[in-house]
Amino acid sequence: MENLWNDSEAAKHQGVLAERVYSSRLLGANPALVLHGGGNTSVKDVWKNIFGEAEATLFVKGSGSDLISIERKDFVPVRMDAMLKLSRLSQLSDMDMARELKLATLDPNAPAPSVEAILHALIPHRFVDHTHADAIVTITNTASGEARIREIFGDEVIVLPYVMPGFDLAKLCAEVFPAQATSRTIGMVLMNHGIFSFGDTAKESYDRMIALVGRAEDYLKKNAPLLSAAESAPTSDWSALPELRKKVSAVAGFPMLLRSKCDSNTLAFARHPKIADISQRGPATPDHIIRTKRVAMLGRDAEAYSLAYKKYFEKNCQSAKVSLTMLDPAPRVIIDPEFGLISAGRTARDTQIIEDVYLRTQEIVLRGEVLGGYQALGEADLFSMEYWDLEQAKLKKAGAPKVFTGEIALVTGAASGIGKACVQAFLDRGAAVVGVDINPAVESLYGQRADYLGIAANLTSLDEIKSLLEKTVRHYGGLDMLVLNAGIFPGGKKIEALADDEWRKVMAINLDSNLAIMREAHPLLKAAPRYGRVVVMGSKNVPAPGPGASAYSAAKAALTQLARVAALEWGKDSIRINLVHPNAVFDTGIWTAEVLLQRATHYGMTVDEYKRNNVLHEEVSSKDVAELTAEMCGALFSKITGAQIPIDGGNDRVI
Ligand code: ZN
Repeated sequence: MENLWNDSEAAKHQGVLAERVYSSRLLGANPALVLHGGGNTSVKDVWKNIFGEAEATLFVKGSGSDLISIERKDFVPVRMDAMLKLSRLSQLSDMDMARELKLATLDPNAPAPSVEAILHALIPHRFVDHTHADAIVTITNTASGEARIREIFGDEVIVLPYVMPGFDLAKLCAEVFPAQATSRTIGMVLMNHGIFSFGDTAKESYDRMIALVGRAEDYLKKNAPLLSAAESAPTSDWSALPELRKKVSAVAGFPMLLRSKCDSNTLAFARHPKIADISQRGPATPDHIIRTKRVAMLGRDAEAYSLAYKKYFEKNCQSAKVSLTMLDPAPRVIIDPEFGLISAGRTARDTQIIEDVYLRTQEIVLRGEVLGGYQALGEADLFSMEYWDLEQAKLKKAGAPKVFTGEIALVTGAASGIGKACVQAFLDRGAAVVGVDINPAVESLYGQRADYLGIAANLTSLDEIKSLLEKTVRHYGGLDMLVLNAGIFPGGKKIEALADDEWRKVMAINLDSNLAIMREAHPLLKAAPRYGRVVVMGSKNVPAPGPGASAYSAAKAALTQLARVAALEWGKDSIRINLVHPNAVFDTGIWTAEVLLQRATHYGMTVDEYKRNNVLHEEVSSKDVAELTAEMCGALFSKITGAQIPIDGGNDRVI
């Protein structure tokens, strides 16, 4: 395992807290040590209060931060004496502990301290590092795990049996640590959970973590080598995914996103001869059950999974004092011999985290098998971890879902103007959004957001339409809402001067491509958990055409008629399709200040008068159109299909 410590970088971090930040980020930068907010670190120091009094203080990672990007403010100052006093109680419920930890903080604005705060306080060393290193959890999740750990580390680490994180674990540490620690002790291994290292400086504690995990990695290289998976071609049939998503969503009671990862490794794992058994043995560390919740369902039978889960829940819920209202029987990981790994989550970020965690879990399980059999926690331990009060409280705190959480919207012509505003309107409402445009800028509109996928495509090509729908389905699992916005507005030309190929080009882009997308997307919309919705960007030119725009007006009129027929045909599938007819939306690419001034002058108006030249004297923006478009996919319009709504500030020819 590579040691990332760099003396000149470290020298830029003066003071114990700054050093703590530096080495915590080094841990966070290695996914084989910690993943997505896992692990925690602390440092003991003195805090000067407002009276100038010095208080012995533990600065421990607060909840909600991630080691890779942790900052000073993410370390919560808590009173050492309070931590030590708590550790002497004979028992403390999780909720009481959470409250006491909060009360012991010295900064009312700090986040909640890590549930492992008491444990950090009990370890006498100044710096304490804790990770869920893959190599450690691989070895400790086997029958002979403890013996192997002792073989690797001898008396340099203390070994604790599995106990749920929180007060009980701190209590155990309070007993074992003073009894077993010697001058040779540099770490502590928690069976089925992870590892602690400690030292008097940030560097010492970090170096020890890397050295300890490195020794475990070397042991695995020697004793549990992994064969590389045979090349397998990903399945070309992705059409089953939207149906699967519909079933998973029905089981969950709300729409879910599915993210599929189909490569040689995930396929080899899914086709492992013992997959039915090894996939059901639980996550590698308790931290992962929180992230991935229920792991592993074989094949695509969501109903069978949910029945089995309900039985498991009923069997365990009474002893764990968990009420039936907490039951959510939807799987979070689906292992399928054709699709490989499928992650199911309420948000795109969730599905990404689940995938990252499970890709590592696969490897941990396979190595565990080589070491004599992967063996995670027992059913009761797993259940109490999944329904842990503190985790349930965290889930509640995560906030109510938004109107389109768990749903997918696809917007064409998304790189600018009304389309770009539509992307934002759907993102704001919690949807995962696919933005499509011929302009490649669409790909990087939102950087690395998990809930946005930008695809550059030419919509006049059927192959490209099929390919972008496949990408959408593999990435998010299906399609719920389709906004047909892409189109061109050619320069004005009278009929006598209009060439055939110019007419055909406008028809191809503004009309034909929309027919193709609608046809290809129909099976996806039909499988949408809350029924498909389509919004078509029409134009004022449909009810009130103007001279010089025959191709554009004819294409939009034909598109309107196409949408109306679709409303009739698709009603039986509960798919709603409605139109908006915007007019005079000037905050788009084609309306430069120069063009605006030219047009205004032509009509003898100022630019402002020209922009507000409608019945209400209101300027209509891209955002206005986008907000209406998004609302038309929501509950207000749930009983409306085939409608045409002008959004133009009132136009006397349309009214
Ligand atoms: Zn932990």
